[in-house]
Amino acid sequence: MHPTITIARGDGIGPEIMEAVLRILQAADPTLQFEEITLGERVYLSGITSGIGPEAWDSIRRNKVLLKAPITTPSGGGYKSLNVTLRKSLGLFANVRPSFSLSPFVPTKHPQMNVVVIRENEEDLYAGIEHRQTDEVVQCLKLISRPGCERIVNYAFEYARANGRKKVTCFIKDNIMKQTDGLFHEIFKTISKEYPEIQAESKIVDIGTALIASNPELFDVIVMPNLYGDVVSDVTAQISGSVGLAGSANIGESISMFEAIHGSAPDIAGQGIANPSGLLQGAVMMLNHLGRNEVAHTIQNAWAYTLEQGIHTADIFNPLTSKQKVSTLGFAEAVIAYLGSKPNTLELPNYENSKPIQIKPYQRKPAGAKKLKGVDVFVDCGGITPDELAAKMQQLNDEIGLTMITNRGVKVWPNGFEETFCTDHWRCRFEIPNGKAVVHTAIPKLLSQAIDKGIEVIKTENLYEFDGIKSYSAGQGQ
Ligand code: NAD
Repeated sequence: MHPTITIARGDGIGPEIMEAVLRILQAADPTLQFEEITLGERVYLSGITSGIGPEAWDSIRRNKVLLKAPITTPSGGGYKSLNVTLRKSLGLFANVRPSFSLSPFVPTKHPQMNVVVIRENEEDLYAGIEHRQTDEVVQCLKLISRPGCERIVNYAFEYARANGRKKVTCFIKDNIMKQTDGLFHEIFKTISKEYPEIQAESKIVDIGTALIASNPELFDVIVMPNLYGDVVSDVTAQISGSVGLAGSANIGESISMFEAIHGSAPDIAGQGIANPSGLLQGAVMMLNHLGRNEVAHTIQNAWAYTLEQGIHTADIFNPLTSKQKVSTLGFAEAVIAYLGSKPNTLELPNYENSKPIQIKPYQRKPAGAKKLKGVDVFVDCGGITPDELAAKMQQLNDEIGLTMITNRGVKVWPNGFEETFCTDHWRCRFEIPNGKAVVHTAIPKLLSQAIDKGIEVIKTENLYEFDGIKSYSAGQGQ
């Protein structure tokens, strides 16, 4: 059976690079069928604030494979990013972003690099849950879940195994975010033990990214939470030669979406000069995913051969290594002309025998023993000192005692420093004294007393122990 692929031409340079890629796909495999949907700016501006209409959803869910050109998220107006909506609504949990050197044909300082960034695609700060809570402070919730971590880490090791990769590195920042990145890291360490033939290592994301920028050849597969993956994969694409070169696969259990990693490049839109390689690389990953490995390999060879011939778009054109500067469609025509040719020296990662990756279904573990230990009460209070706020809060309850106040995470009471700058956003921690049995109803009691005293509570977070382990962060300086 011949697959039907849903395609979206996108915004900015999207229609230009999609046209180039479709011409190559059709020339390489005339049996491929396409069904076109409209997404993005035009849909947003027609009044559909999600940027996608019901027919488009139907097409993607029917065909299961979407090849998508970049889209522009209009700034302002409260529009949510359609890319994030697609990834999350369709359960596309794994984002696979390979970047490899095309040296010496595309200049790079890193001729040995061949890295795959595997980015968690649904969680982290991309939950997009943000609130302005006081005059001075806004917040964004970073959500990391056990199933989210297990699935992406499992995927990364299965990917490494299926593609003959030797090492998986985990990037985290768990020296600071001990609960969220701590969970990701703990799961990485546990799952890595199931893959003894693959080397596992961990790096704090800042030094890890610095090492990528200086020595990307040290890395093979790298797995990380969503935001770090977004940043790091742009770095890997750019240092391989151009952000316009890398493709991206967004993989879910039943639906997958393929794209370029770059955006809609409004600065060069309409000029016919964009590099279609990133979207083409996405399309090659799509063909492998569909089991059309041979066609994928033929296109990849023709693409590499075209680059070897020095036929380059403006972003990678270099008078020393390039021979002909071509337009977006000119590049596509060259690739089509070279279908059947093999590169002379470039050795690209070979996915000829790759198969879609299966991961084990998530097994929910028995829930841990959860015990209430107290509550963090966040209050909006401008122009007050920590001691004055403590005096107010201490009047509130005799069941749970005030033990600490922080401002932007730093302990300011008891015994804070006068040098610490304080905003109008405070966290007042109430903890249940050891040995005292206090029930959840103590919390609303505390809150209603606060309201009676004119204290503006903006939110609360319950404090828990799980299996006897304190599961909330300390204040800085505590
Ligand atoms: P961008 O990736 O569009 O552009 C960054 C720079 O890289 C620009 O100078 C651009 O000209 C250049 N560039 C990008 N792709 C190129 C290509 N194929 N050939 C040659 N040069 C290329 O990033 P941006 O400017 O920050 O974002 C523009 C818009 O794209 C925003 O609305 C953003 O929300 C959106 N965006 C969409 C996606 C997506 O659809 N997956 C991803 C990222 C950004």
